Amino acid sequence: MSPPIRIRGARVHNLKNLDVDIPRDSLTVITGVSGSGKSSLAFDTLFAEGQRQYIDTLSTYARQYLDAIPRPDVDLIDGLAPTLSIDQKSGTQSARSTVATVTEIYDYLRLLYARVGTPHCTHCGSTISTQTPDAIVQSIAAYPQRTKLTLMSPMVRGRKGAHSDVFEKIASQGLVRARVDGEVYLLEDVPPLAIRKNHTIEAVVDRIVLKKGVDSRLDESTRLAIRLSDGLVSALIEPPAGEPESKLFSTAMACIECGASFEELEPRTFSFNSPYGACPTCDGLGVVEDSNNSKSRKSRPGRKSSATRGRKKASRDEPTTLRTCPDCDGGRLRPEALAVKIQDESIASVVSMPLVDSQTWIQNITDSLSALQQRVAAPIQDEVVRRIDFLRRVGVDYLSLDRSADTLSGGELQRIRLATCIGSGLVSVCYVLDEPSIGLHPADHDRLLGAINELKGQGNTIVIVEHDEDTMRAADHLIDIGPGAGVHGGHLVSQGTPDEVADDQHSPTGRFLSGEHAIQLDRERRQPRRNEWLTLRGARLHNLDNVTAKVPLGLLVGISGVSGSGKSSLIVDTLYPAVASHLGLVSKPAGPHTKLTGADKLDKLIAIDQSPIGRTTRSCPATYAGVLDPIRNVFASTRASKTLGFSASRFSFNSPAGRCDLCKGNGFERIEMNFLSDLLIECSRCGGKRFNRQTLQVRFKGATIADVLDMTIEAALEFFENVPKVHTLLSSLYDVGLGYVTLGQSSTTLSGGEAQRIKLATELARPGTGQTLYLLDEPTTGLHFSDVQRLLDVLDRLVDQGNTVLVIEHHTDLLAACDWLIDLGPKGGTEGGRIIAEGPPETVAQCQESLTGDFLRRRFA
Ligand code: ADP
Ligand code: ADP
Ligand code: ZN
Repeated sequence: MSPPIRIRGARVHNLKNLDVDIPRDSLTVITGVSGSGKSSLAFDTLFAEGQRQYIDTLSTYARQYLDAIPRPDVDLIDGLAPTLSIDQKSGTQSARSTVATVTEIYDYLRLLYARVGTPHCTHCGSTISTQTPDAIVQSIAAYPQRTKLTLMSPMVRGRKGAHSDVFEKIASQGLVRARVDGEVYLLEDVPPLAIRKNHTIEAVVDRIVLKKGVDSRLDESTRLAIRLSDGLVSALIEPPAGEPESKLFSTAMACIECGASFEELEPRTFSFNSPYGACPTCDGLGVVEDSNNSKSRKSRPGRKSSATRGRKKASRDEPTTLRTCPDCDGGRLRPEALAVKIQDESIASVVSMPLVDSQTWIQNITDSLSALQQRVAAPIQDEVVRRIDFLRRVGVDYLSLDRSADTLSGGELQRIRLATCIGSGLVSVCYVLDEPSIGLHPADHDRLLGAINELKGQGNTIVIVEHDEDTMRAADHLIDIGPGAGVHGGHLVSQGTPDEVADDQHSPTGRFLSGEHAIQLDRERRQPRRNEWLTLRGARLHNLDNVTAKVPLGLLVGISGVSGSGKSSLIVDTLYPAVASHLGLVSKPAGPHTKLTGADKLDKLIAIDQSPIGRTTRSCPATYAGVLDPIRNVFASTRASKTLGFSASRFSFNSPAGRCDLCKGNGFERIEMNFLSDLLIECSRCGGKRFNRQTLQVRFKGATIADVLDMTIEAALEFFENVPKVHTLLSSLYDVGLGYVTLGQSSTTLSGGEAQRIKLATELARPGTGQTLYLLDEPTTGLHFSDVQRLLDVLDRLVDQGNTVLVIEHHTDLLAACDWLIDLGPKGGTEGGRIIAEGPPETVAQCQESLTGDFLRRRFA
């Protein structure tokens, strides 16, 4: 047994001088109500220090920045392995990454196509011939004695040091100069390969002149150079005077029919992120902007709306219509690359298959290959098959390899990264994960846990922040942080095996695990009103099979179904934009459907997603919820303000008059780091207070505006007790469980779940129309059992005002509490896309075909 990771005296954010041990090579789950300090422990302490310690081992160049990286506020962490985090926020996903590139499967497929693919002429369709090294050797040997041939600059290209043994061999012939990133070195002087990643290394073999009589005894160095020209390597041989180059020795390819010549196949030929491979029309994106908006309604493969989960697109973005690129037909590559086939399939068509079909195809190509090709292909096939296996195990088998990463939900992306980590086979790493179960139907949890256990079994330490009961029960060790949120949290409430925590009377998590506390299920169901339905007919987007969905108005309606069953396609991509367009709102085009009725009973449509509430560091809960305006008025109405002539705008950090000049009201200065993420350092002039000295002279009940922004919502509620306008707005924030958040906390530090609840609270405080349709996508994300009850209370209030609330959810308790469910399935992808049960949860529970029904049955039992 390795000694545990010891954390002593952790004081990051709200942590109260916490001491905990995390066992190595096991699965530890950190639990607690939201805001209790789980992420502060897992990410801001453990992971942050793990990274710092790692950077410490790097080059002096990296280390010069080390002092600038703030040390987490902790006395000691030891026993720490290199630490990797797999969270949901990190890294903006570009349209240039796909499931295949993120998992590195695409790298293997490119290699496979470069080595054993058969190119076809893009002009006349016939097969293009390449010369194998063996063929070249033979044709040289066939020359009459004493012919003088010149072998020109065969190039050896290697990546990441892959060919170091090859270099050594050529070096021993004294022939090599190497070119790294454009600079020429002698081989001995090539910078160590391991520390430079992803550059191209070309070893240039000097001219080799064949002087000898040729027959079967070729100059040994020539043989070597030619042999190296297999696969990744290209060899160009200058022919004797008068001989056409392509005829004998060039490995550049030519069409037998029309003589058109083609570049030799290399992995980069198949890269849509390289000018060598990308389709020039769409620059490798597979889609082009549609100038003809009204006609074509094809959305980009994978493009989902802003109204979905914590996706990166800002909700205010103009909807742009994209259509499939007419030249590559979505394949992202040049025609030459798309014309390379293995068993009649191009690389683009292989990645567009459902995951399982891609896997089967890869397994079955062997028969179509020559014996030599089989030897080359076998290890590549194995690697691809293995990696697809991991993807299937983390429950994303409904995706295709070409789905672009910017259309994946945070949970999907996290599971894909998890699969990639398992595939990488690293050992002795400490992985920190953030709610990997998000977006997963309970039916898929087992597989996910299996994958996590596999990662652990490879000899790694896993730490997960999680609210899901199955995950907690699967833990070797539970750490319960709390008991409350914010200032009321940050203590170690309980730790031990799941059973030990369940027995602990003081642990809120334990109370739920033991079954002593449970979410209220014996609720009275609201009944559908007569003839008030929102009906969408004939929905056909993605996997939807001509679906007709009937949403009863004035109810709490749950949309359920396993991942990939079509919930987002139906609700987010079709129903929502269809209603929006009925109400005359700007939105992306709705997915194909035949008819929408009942929308005239609605007058407002609000999607409450988990995207950030503001993207500038100056936005915060107080600005978003609109509570800062009345607070500013309070400050402007003080005697001091009147004397100084300050108006309300003086107390805004967006106004130059009142804010700190140096940091422009941000409270910190941003220092750009060469290769690390930007560093934020407290402003040296205002010390993080954001306002200038004059503004801070004004106090209300003894507090400056900066003091107020530093208050938690809970504290501010008491402070502004006698200011009704402020008090009302703050109460609704408090009611959704955000009492622990400070008014001025930068919105960039809020979790998706917190952002969503701030939006909910802001809606609650607005005068309701009673005819609003609210749409929430997985609102239980980030919520502890006890928070779910509170969320439910808030949703109930919206419904009780007459509004309709639609929630896309997996949380069995929340689904069980809905008035009505629409269950999609039965499975994901092509095996889903139908409504298989609808009605009150009791009705869905009786449906044998429904996986949601299964879980509801158990819950009601
Ligand atoms: P959990 O992960 O349990 O939901 P967190 O660790 O995110 O809780 O938060 C614990 C407390 O620390 C909360 O009061 C939260 O508002 C606060 N907090 C989190 N991140 C920051 C930050 N970057 N700056 C200041 N306070 C923060
Ligand atoms: P859910 O919301 O239930 O998880 P989705 O509606 O996201 O399901 O997905 C339903 C099916 O449609 C899945 O097979 C998914 O891979 C596919 N799909 C989703 N979005 C796209 C898209 N933009 N392009 C192509 N296929 C998609
Ligand atoms: Zn400042």
